[in-house]
Amino acid sequence: MKTKADGPSFASQVREELVRQPLGKSCCQLSEIDALTQTSGHLAFRGRGVITVYYRLENTGAARRLFQLLKIRLNVNPMLHYTTTKQLGGHRTWVLMLDEKDSRILLAALHMIETGEDGTLSLKRNVSRHPMTRQCCRKAFLRGAFLGAGTMSNPEKGYHFEWKAENERLAVNLRRLMEKSGFPYQTYLRRNMQVIYIKEADQIISLLALMGASGSLLKMENIRVNKQTRLHATRAANCDEHNSERMLDAAQKQAEACRKISLQLGLFNLPPGLRELARKRMENPELSLTELGEAMEPPLGKSAVNHRLRRLMQIASELDQQQSGVH
Ligand SMILES: [Zn+2]
Repeated sequence: MKTKADGPSFASQVREELVRQPLGKSCCQLSEIDALTQTSGHLAFRGRGVITVYYRLENTGAARRLFQLLKIRLNVNPMLHYTTTKQLGGHRTWVLMLDEKDSRILLAALHMIETGEDGTLSLKRNVSRHPMTRQCCRKAFLRGAFLGAGTMSNPEKGYHFEWKAENERLAVNLRRLMEKSGFPYQTYLRRNMQVIYIKEADQIISLLALMGASGSLLKMENIRVNKQTRLHATRAANCDEHNSERMLDAAQKQAEACRKISLQLGLFNLPPGLRELARKRMENPELSLTELGEAMEPPLGKSAVNHRLRRLMQIASELDQQQSGVH
């Protein structure tokens, strides 16, 4: 359960960043309005041919941005107010309403209505405003769609980015855009709603870049790098443990070989350099080669220790052979 103490979610940080983006070119402004209309817009039919548009948005910044876009791009004057929903614990929803004239301007700009021969308006079916061949407009559409219907998980917890499409038109547009921009997406149905999602961190980072959320992108990259570093550290620690097991195993064998030499040959029969090392190995089976070398007087380097221990192992194995030759 998310509590206030968690601070703003990663998705809301992305939203905060997106609403601060410049409104952009005129073509892009219309694309973003289109996306926000498809994700958060509703039509109200009031009698014959009278259609008005209203929006419901939870994010204050997104509502403010849409208000500006509508005013600047279409020169319409939405009324902005908010309602609080009791079921959601006094959750605040912003409502933007357009009157009949402004609604008509908007729907005409988005090619969503057509005027019949008798002058009445009707909604177009199966419409797609324009193919959005321009990269700039695709960016704007994706940004608007994220503000209206997108979310993503905190990268600390996992990589998941999604849009939920409440209608087929939006689903088709989003899928087409993802294909055009080269994002491999997946879909599933959640309560009759199509969810379009991406799971790969690289792809999510590219999407954040495309939408212009460069601050969130950097945050996500940092989180990812830290996660990878932690993973490597864990792997390295496991590897060290594995190595030290092997090392102890080898040290035990060396100590055993020295004991054999001591019993069958006598350490005093060994050259002094080997004699001292054999004694030290028997006394300290837990030391690494470096540590063993440091315990010698004078100290020995790791490779010298290694070389002498190999000599001792060889002597022990020769003793073994002699023994089996006797019988
Ligand atoms: Zn554009």
